[in-house]
Amino acid sequence: MKLEKLGEKTYCIKGRTNIGIYKSSENEVYIIDTGIDKDTGIKILKIIKENNWKVKGIINTHSHADHIGGNKVIQDRENCLVLAHGIEKAVIENPQIEASFLYGASPIDDICNKFVVAPESKALEIDDYEIEGLKHFLLKGHSFEMIGIKTSDDVYFLGDALIGEEMINKHQLFYIFDVGEYLKTLAFLETLEGRFFVVSHAEVMQDIKNLININRKKVEEICEVVCDICKEKRTFEEILQTIFERYHLYMNINQYYLIGTVVKAYLSYVIKLKKVTFTFENNKMFYEIVN
Ligand SMILES: [Zn+2]
Ligand SMILES: [Zn+2]
Repeated sequence: MKLEKLGEKTYCIKGRTNIGIYKSSENEVYIIDTGIDKDTGIKILKIIKENNWKVKGIINTHSHADHIGGNKVIQDRENCLVLAHGIEKAVIENPQIEASFLYGASPIDDICNKFVVAPESKALEIDDYEIEGLKHFLLKGHSFEMIGIKTSDDVYFLGDALIGEEMINKHQLFYIFDVGEYLKTLAFLETLEGRFFVVSHAEVMQDIKNLININRKKVEEICEVVCDICKEKRTFEEILQTIFERYHLYMNINQYYLIGTVVKAYLSYVIKLKKVTFTFENNKMFYEIVN
Protein backbone atom coordinates (compact mmCIF):
# COMPACT_ATOMS: atom_id res chain seq x y z
CA MET A 1 0.00 0.00 0.00
CA LYS A 2 1.47 3.31 -1.09
CA LEU A 3 0.67 6.87 -0.02
CA GLU A 4 0.20 9.35 -2.84
CA LYS A 5 -0.38 13.09 -2.44
CA LEU A 6 -3.28 14.39 -4.52
CA GLY A 7 -3.74 17.89 -3.15
CA GLU A 8 -2.62 20.25 -0.43
CA LYS A 9 -4.59 18.28 2.19
CA THR A 10 -5.61 15.13 0.38
CA TYR A 11 -3.84 11.81 -0.06
CA CYS A 12 -4.69 8.38 -1.35
CA ILE A 13 -3.32 5.08 -0.10
CA LYS A 14 -3.45 2.89 -3.16
CA GLY A 15 -4.34 -0.74 -2.69
CA ARG A 16 -7.01 -3.33 -3.53
CA THR A 17 -9.44 -0.79 -2.08
CA ASN A 18 -8.11 2.76 -2.42
CA ILE A 19 -8.14 4.63 0.88
CA GLY A 20 -8.53 8.40 1.19
CA ILE A 21 -6.73 10.60 3.72
CA TYR A 22 -7.81 14.19 4.38
CA LYS A 23 -5.86 16.47 6.70
CA SER A 24 -8.41 18.46 8.68
CA SER A 25 -5.65 20.22 10.63
CA GLU A 26 -1.85 20.19 10.80
CA ASN A 27 -1.70 16.74 12.38
CA GLU A 28 -5.24 15.34 12.30
CA VAL A 29 -6.69 13.24 9.51
CA TYR A 30 -9.93 11.64 8.39
CA ILE A 31 -9.64 8.25 6.71
CA ILE A 32 -12.04 7.53 3.85
CA ASP A 33 -12.79 3.77 3.89
CA THR A 34 -10.58 1.21 5.62
CA GLY A 35 -10.13 -1.78 3.29
CA ILE A 36 -11.03 -5.43 3.63
CA ASP A 37 -9.74 -6.51 7.05
CA LYS A 38 -7.84 -5.92 10.28
CA ASP A 39 -4.46 -6.29 8.54
CA THR A 40 -5.37 -3.53 6.08
CA GLY A 41 -6.47 -1.34 9.00
CA ILE A 42 -3.12 -1.91 10.72
CA LYS A 43 -1.24 -1.02 7.50
CA ILE A 44 -3.25 2.21 7.21
CA LEU A 45 -2.44 3.07 10.84
CA LYS A 46 1.27 2.42 10.20
CA ILE A 47 1.29 4.92 7.32
CA ILE A 48 -0.59 7.44 9.50
CA LYS A 49 1.92 7.04 12.34
CA GLU A 50 4.89 7.38 9.96
CA ASN A 51 3.54 10.79 9.01
CA ASN A 52 2.91 11.78 12.64
CA TRP A 53 -0.78 12.16 12.02
CA LYS A 54 -3.58 11.45 14.47
CA VAL A 55 -6.86 9.83 13.38
CA LYS A 56 -9.76 12.20 13.90
CA GLY A 57 -12.31 9.95 12.24
CA ILE A 58 -13.21 7.39 9.61
CA ILE A 59 -15.70 8.16 6.87
CA ASN A 60 -17.19 5.15 5.07
CA THR A 61 -18.56 5.63 1.57
CA HIS A 62 -20.70 2.52 2.05
CA SER A 63 -20.97 -0.62 4.12
CA HIS A 64 -19.47 -3.31 1.85
CA ALA A 65 -16.91 -5.39 3.71
CA ASP A 66 -14.01 -4.31 1.48
CA HIS A 67 -14.60 -0.70 2.60
CA ILE A 68 -15.20 -1.16 6.34
CA GLY A 69 -13.03 -4.18 7.24
CA GLY A 70 -10.36 -2.04 8.95
CA ASN A 71 -12.85 0.11 10.91
CA LYS A 72 -12.82 -1.90 14.11
CA VAL A 73 -9.07 -2.10 14.65
CA ILE A 74 -8.65 1.60 13.86
CA GLN A 75 -11.57 2.62 16.08
CA ASP A 76 -10.37 0.38 18.94
CA ARG A 77 -6.81 1.70 18.83
CA GLU A 78 -7.49 5.37 18.07
CA ASN A 79 -10.86 5.79 19.78
CA CYS A 80 -12.08 7.68 16.73
CA LEU A 81 -15.47 8.41 15.19
CA VAL A 82 -16.86 6.39 12.30
CA LEU A 83 -19.16 8.48 10.11
CA ALA A 84 -21.51 6.99 7.54
CA HIS A 85 -24.92 7.61 6.06
CA GLY A 86 -28.38 6.11 6.55
CA ILE A 87 -28.77 2.41 5.84
CA GLU A 88 -24.99 2.12 5.29
CA LYS A 89 -24.47 3.28 8.89
CA ALA A 90 -26.97 0.66 10.11
CA VAL A 91 -25.12 -2.11 8.26
CA ILE A 92 -21.71 -0.93 9.56
CA GLU A 93 -23.10 -1.32 13.08
CA ASN A 94 -24.80 -4.63 12.27
CA PRO A 95 -22.64 -6.19 9.55
CA GLN A 96 -24.44 -9.54 9.65
CA ILE A 97 -27.26 -7.75 7.76
CA GLU A 98 -25.06 -7.97 4.67
CA ALA A 99 -25.07 -11.80 4.68
CA SER A 100 -28.79 -11.93 5.56
CA PHE A 101 -29.50 -9.53 2.71
CA LEU A 102 -27.60 -11.64 0.17
CA TYR A 103 -29.17 -14.86 1.42
CA GLY A 104 -32.69 -13.56 2.11
CA ALA A 105 -32.93 -15.09 5.61
CA SER A 106 -30.62 -16.16 8.38
CA PRO A 107 -27.67 -17.09 6.15
CA ILE A 108 -25.80 -20.36 5.77
CA ASP A 109 -22.35 -20.18 7.36
CA ASP A 110 -20.56 -20.60 4.03
CA ILE A 111 -21.30 -17.03 2.94
CA CYS A 112 -20.40 -15.44 6.28
CA ASN A 113 -16.75 -14.80 5.43
CA LYS A 114 -14.66 -11.62 5.56
CA PHE A 115 -15.66 -10.68 2.00
CA VAL A 116 -19.27 -10.37 3.16
CA VAL A 117 -19.32 -9.78 6.92
CA ALA A 118 -16.86 -7.26 8.40
CA PRO A 119 -16.23 -6.78 12.13
CA GLU A 120 -18.76 -4.32 13.57
CA SER A 121 -17.88 -0.77 14.56
CA LYS A 122 -19.83 2.06 16.16
CA ALA A 123 -20.94 4.63 13.63
CA LEU A 124 -22.58 8.06 13.67
CA GLU A 125 -24.76 9.72 11.02
CA ILE A 126 -22.52 11.87 8.82
CA ASP A 127 -25.43 14.25 8.03
CA ASP A 128 -25.27 15.38 11.66
CA TYR A 129 -21.62 16.45 11.30
CA GLU A 130 -20.01 19.40 9.67
CA ILE A 131 -16.43 18.61 8.73
CA GLU A 132 -14.60 21.66 7.54
CA GLY A 133 -13.27 21.14 4.03
CA LEU A 134 -15.35 18.06 3.23
CA LYS A 135 -18.69 17.72 1.50
CA HIS A 136 -20.62 14.53 0.95
CA PHE A 137 -23.36 13.64 -1.50
CA LEU A 138 -25.48 10.58 -2.32
CA LEU A 139 -24.35 8.12 -4.98
CA LYS A 140 -27.20 5.61 -5.11
CA GLY A 141 -27.23 2.45 -7.19
CA HIS A 142 -24.19 0.42 -6.18
CA SER A 143 -25.49 -0.10 -2.65
CA PHE A 144 -28.35 1.23 -0.51
CA GLU A 145 -27.15 4.76 0.24
CA MET A 146 -23.51 5.14 -0.74
CA ILE A 147 -21.98 8.59 -0.46
CA GLY A 148 -19.16 10.34 -2.32
CA ILE A 149 -16.87 12.92 -0.74
CA LYS A 150 -15.41 16.11 -2.19
CA THR A 151 -12.41 17.69 -0.51
CA SER A 152 -11.55 21.40 -0.30
CA ASP A 153 -8.68 20.80 -2.74
CA ASP A 154 -11.01 19.41 -5.41
CA VAL A 155 -10.46 15.70 -5.01
CA TYR A 156 -13.50 13.44 -5.30
CA PHE A 157 -13.77 10.07 -3.56
CA LEU A 158 -16.47 8.13 -5.36
CA GLY A 159 -16.46 4.72 -3.65
CA ASP A 160 -17.79 2.06 -6.01
CA ALA A 161 -19.95 4.43 -8.10
CA LEU A 162 -17.68 3.53 -10.98
CA ILE A 163 -15.91 0.23 -11.52
CA GLY A 164 -12.47 0.20 -13.15
CA GLU A 165 -12.14 -1.08 -16.71
CA GLU A 166 -9.82 -3.89 -15.64
CA MET A 167 -12.33 -5.11 -13.04
CA ILE A 168 -15.16 -4.99 -15.58
CA ASN A 169 -13.14 -7.02 -18.07
CA LYS A 170 -12.26 -9.54 -15.40
CA HIS A 171 -15.63 -9.92 -13.64
CA GLN A 172 -18.11 -8.71 -16.30
CA LEU A 173 -20.97 -8.43 -13.82
CA PHE A 174 -20.13 -6.02 -11.05
CA TYR A 175 -22.17 -5.41 -7.95
CA ILE A 176 -25.26 -3.25 -8.41
CA PHE A 177 -28.17 -2.92 -6.00
CA ASP A 178 -30.44 -0.71 -8.14
CA VAL A 179 -29.75 -0.45 -11.88
CA GLY A 180 -31.95 2.61 -12.49
CA GLU A 181 -30.28 4.55 -9.66
CA TYR A 182 -26.85 3.40 -10.85
CA LEU A 183 -27.50 4.90 -14.30
CA LYS A 184 -28.80 8.14 -12.72
CA THR A 185 -25.62 8.33 -10.65
CA LEU A 186 -23.52 7.89 -13.82
CA ALA A 187 -25.34 10.89 -15.34
CA PHE A 188 -24.64 12.89 -12.17
CA LEU A 189 -20.93 11.94 -12.23
CA GLU A 190 -20.70 13.40 -15.74
CA THR A 191 -21.44 16.84 -14.27
CA LEU A 192 -18.57 16.79 -11.76
CA GLU A 193 -15.47 18.90 -12.25
CA GLY A 194 -12.47 18.08 -10.10
CA ARG A 195 -8.73 17.82 -9.96
CA PHE A 196 -8.60 14.11 -9.17
CA PHE A 197 -11.19 11.35 -8.93
CA VAL A 198 -10.58 8.36 -6.69
CA VAL A 199 -12.76 5.32 -7.28
CA SER A 200 -12.11 2.47 -4.93
CA HIS A 201 -10.92 -0.20 -7.33
CA ALA A 202 -9.09 1.59 -10.16
CA GLU A 203 -6.23 3.99 -10.80
CA VAL A 204 -6.64 7.62 -9.66
CA MET A 205 -8.04 9.61 -12.61
CA GLN A 206 -8.18 13.23 -13.75
CA ASP A 207 -10.99 12.52 -16.19
CA ILE A 208 -13.74 9.97 -15.56
CA LYS A 209 -15.82 10.53 -18.71
CA ASN A 210 -14.41 7.49 -20.51
CA LEU A 211 -14.90 5.22 -17.51
CA ILE A 212 -18.49 6.47 -17.07
CA ASN A 213 -19.19 5.41 -20.67
CA ILE A 214 -17.57 2.01 -20.15
CA ASN A 215 -19.71 1.44 -17.02
CA ARG A 216 -22.90 2.58 -18.77
CA LYS A 217 -22.24 0.40 -21.83
CA LYS A 218 -21.67 -2.68 -19.70
CA VAL A 219 -24.88 -2.07 -17.72
CA GLU A 220 -26.87 -1.58 -20.94
CA GLU A 221 -25.31 -4.72 -22.41
CA ILE A 222 -26.32 -6.79 -19.38
CA CYS A 223 -29.89 -5.43 -19.58
CA GLU A 224 -29.99 -6.61 -23.19
CA VAL A 225 -28.54 -9.99 -22.28
CA VAL A 226 -31.17 -10.46 -19.55
CA CYS A 227 -33.97 -9.52 -21.98
CA ASP A 228 -32.48 -11.81 -24.63
CA ILE A 229 -32.37 -14.75 -22.21
CA CYS A 230 -36.02 -14.06 -21.32
CA LYS A 231 -37.14 -14.39 -24.96
CA GLU A 232 -38.09 -17.85 -23.77
CA LYS A 233 -39.79 -18.42 -20.45
CA ARG A 234 -37.04 -18.88 -17.88
CA THR A 235 -36.76 -19.56 -14.19
CA PHE A 236 -34.35 -17.46 -12.15
CA GLU A 237 -31.94 -20.41 -11.88
CA GLU A 238 -31.90 -20.76 -15.68
CA ILE A 239 -31.26 -17.04 -16.15
CA LEU A 240 -28.39 -17.12 -13.65
CA GLN A 241 -26.89 -20.23 -15.23
CA THR A 242 -27.10 -18.74 -18.75
CA ILE A 243 -25.43 -15.53 -17.60
CA PHE A 244 -22.58 -17.49 -16.00
CA GLU A 245 -22.14 -19.44 -19.24
CA ARG A 246 -22.27 -16.37 -21.52
CA TYR A 247 -19.70 -14.49 -19.47
CA HIS A 248 -17.55 -17.54 -18.67
CA LEU A 249 -17.97 -17.05 -14.94
CA TYR A 250 -17.25 -19.70 -12.37
CA MET A 251 -20.03 -20.60 -9.96
CA ASN A 252 -19.39 -21.13 -6.27
CA ILE A 253 -21.36 -20.39 -3.13
CA ASN A 254 -20.23 -16.74 -2.89
CA GLN A 255 -20.78 -16.05 -6.57
CA TYR A 256 -24.16 -17.75 -6.51
CA TYR A 257 -25.48 -15.31 -3.90
CA LEU A 258 -23.49 -12.25 -4.95
CA ILE A 259 -24.12 -12.42 -8.70
CA GLY A 260 -27.58 -13.84 -7.98
CA THR A 261 -28.42 -10.56 -6.20
CA VAL A 262 -27.01 -8.55 -9.11
CA VAL A 263 -29.12 -10.52 -11.60
CA LYS A 264 -32.18 -9.83 -9.42
CA ALA A 265 -31.33 -6.11 -9.58
CA TYR A 266 -31.31 -6.33 -13.39
CA LEU A 267 -34.58 -8.29 -13.38
CA SER A 268 -36.21 -5.61 -11.17
CA TYR A 269 -35.04 -2.96 -13.59
CA VAL A 270 -36.31 -4.63 -16.79
CA ILE A 271 -39.60 -5.46 -15.04
CA LYS A 272 -39.97 -1.79 -14.00
CA LEU A 273 -39.31 -0.81 -17.63
CA LYS A 274 -42.05 -3.31 -18.61
CA LYS A 275 -39.61 -5.15 -20.88
CA VAL A 276 -39.95 -8.38 -18.90
CA THR A 277 -42.79 -9.81 -16.89
CA PHE A 278 -43.27 -12.86 -14.67
CA THR A 279 -45.79 -15.67 -14.37
CA PHE A 280 -46.27 -18.73 -12.20
CA GLU A 281 -46.84 -22.19 -13.64
CA ASN A 282 -46.71 -25.52 -11.82
CA ASN A 283 -45.53 -23.65 -8.73
CA LYS A 284 -42.52 -22.23 -10.58
CA MET A 285 -41.79 -18.58 -11.23
CA PHE A 286 -40.94 -17.74 -14.84
CA TYR A 287 -39.61 -14.55 -16.38
CA GLU A 288 -40.47 -13.70 -19.94
CA ILE A 289 -40.02 -10.81 -22.33
CA VAL A 290 -43.04 -8.56 -23.02
CA ASN A 291 -43.75 -8.59 -26.76
ZN1 LIG B 1 -19.10 -1.81 -2.84
ZN1 LIG C 1 -15.64 -2.11 -3.21
